[in-house]
Amino acid sequence: MLNILVIDDNIADVHLTHEMLKEGLGTQFTFSHASEVCIARTYMQNQTFDIILLDLNLPDSIALDTLRELRQTHARAATLIMSGLQDEALAVQAVQSGAQDYLIKGQINSQALSRAIRYAVERHRAQEQVTHQAHYDHLTGLANRGLFYERLHYALARCHRNDAAIALLFLDLDHFKTINDTFGHESGDQVLKTVAGRLRKCIREVDTGVRMGGDEFAVLLDEVVSVDDVGTIAERILNLIAQPMVVLERELHITGSVGVTIYPWDCATAQDLLKHSDTAMYRAKAQGGNNFQFYTAGMQSSPLDRTTINVELRRALTKGEFLLHYQPQMDLRTQHIVGMEALLRWQHPYQGMISPMHFIPKAEESGIIVPIGEWALQTASKQAKQWEREGLPVPPISVNLSARQVHQRNLPAVIEQILQTTQLAPHALQVELTESFLIHETPSTLAMLRDLKAMGVQIYIDDFGVGYASLRYLKTFPLDGLKLDQSLITDLDTDMNNAAIVKAILALAHTLGLKVIAEGVETQTQADFLAEHACDAIQGFWVTPPIPAHESRQWLTAA
Ligand code: C2E
Ligand code: MG
Ligand code: MG
Repeated sequence: MLNILVIDDNIADVHLTHEMLKEGLGTQFTFSHASEVCIARTYMQNQTFDIILLDLNLPDSIALDTLRELRQTHARAATLIMSGLQDEALAVQAVQSGAQDYLIKGQINSQALSRAIRYAVERHRAQEQVTHQAHYDHLTGLANRGLFYERLHYALARCHRNDAAIALLFLDLDHFKTINDTFGHESGDQVLKTVAGRLRKCIREVDTGVRMGGDEFAVLLDEVVSVDDVGTIAERILNLIAQPMVVLERELHITGSVGVTIYPWDCATAQDLLKHSDTAMYRAKAQGGNNFQFYTAGMQSSPLDRTTINVELRRALTKGEFLLHYQPQMDLRTQHIVGMEALLRWQHPYQGMISPMHFIPKAEESGIIVPIGEWALQTASKQAKQWEREGLPVPPISVNLSARQVHQRNLPAVIEQILQTTQLAPHALQVELTESFLIHETPSTLAMLRDLKAMGVQIYIDDFGVGYASLRYLKTFPLDGLKLDQSLITDLDTDMNNAAIVKAILALAHTLGLKVIAEGVETQTQADFLAEHACDAIQGFWVTPPIPAHESRQWLTAA
């Protein structure tokens, strides 16, 4: 049985079409007719059609726009264009825009029409299968990110045309990672499927439910008329998700957090629509989860406020948004690479690459630097081992430790564990502690450093030379070396005092048997000065800025 919808304002043509169909298809079809696109839309909300016969000359629409809209909101139906002779060129364009075929009115008979319909439906099904795979998430069957962007694009165009509004609901499950970690991926997948099914129940066919990736979902609501309506839907979604679900014979209670933005009321661009919904979603998380928040302008000014940034950082960690770049350290005498510093980067989904300067202080405040730092240790060690396995000559890899990490009693145990799992030799790992840490030392931190040292891990003092008071600690601690702070290097060429200080530090460090690495070396003159005074290694833009892991490889081969 074929469900056929004819959109045509010419009643005589419609009758003719109906007669031909009866002749060609017998009783094997249902026939609906709309004289305008807006009427067709209401039909389509309540019924699915296999094929739409679309007249190119309609009173309330521009043909190609209509076609694109149909393709997008009712992709399940094949489309056959019925055109007059005079708009054949347009009909060709229509086929290029996704219609299956076109027929010239007055040149067809019942046989040709029914055959064209059958072919169109078949061809469309085949196309559908291919595009379905490319457009839908295979686990949940929801639209994927790609299709979402496509739909968003058309929805925005429609908004402009009709002076309408759309809403984006951004949903992230609360504590999904815990579920995954505790009950396994199979359970996690089941949860995602169930959530997707529930999401589908909350929205109309014209709306788009999306799996954005991981445990992130989105809903694009079409034709929004009031904020209240959107709120109701958000609430319905949250309530339905919060219903207990049975997953692999276990009852689970999942909740979600939703951020909502309405276009064009809350934002001016598609990009902002996404960004704001995300911001609002973080806010909902910060409120403890299981709630929804509308985006408000105030949120934008403080996306990095304390509660939000912690949620963001935690999320970044679970979503794998952190990465390490590496900066080689070069021996001035031999020109060999004698070390690689791992430097943290945050690849934020909307804000792009964020420098550690912007988030490490906040991460330290909240303590989330501890798991982040562990991640960095683990990742850098894994990377070093990987390079080693590729047969590259790998110098020690240097990882920054925050004071918070150093005050964790179990740090040596954590590092030992990481070395064990990654199988990296202890002497291939260097840790960098800041000078301030030395000033606030306690007996237990000293013991901790001795433990690390005993394991064979090398210890460097970072940013050395900013607070000179710590010079005297150099003897007390089991150190391997220090890194001259960038501020001392920067005006080495012009500031005689700095030059004297650097010389003095180099001499003192060498007397104590410590290596010295100069940081932030940007010019030949600086490098020359450091070489002249027997600085062991330099690190800085003059050699290379920090670079992604895959680009670092070439520095290792050069070593
Ligand atoms: P840092 O450990 O002193 O790292 C050196 C910083 O100087 C890096 O900044 C590096 O990109 C930058 N730099 C290198 N060569 C030059 C140069 O020639 N000129 C200039 N102007 N800058 C240069 P980055 O990567 O932004 O890191 C900033 C700080 O964030 C680091 O300073 C470190 O204290 C901290 N950090 C980075 N990764 C981690 C991490 O995994 N854990 C912890 N706790 N802190 C980290
Ligand atoms: Mg460092
Ligand atoms: Mg430094």
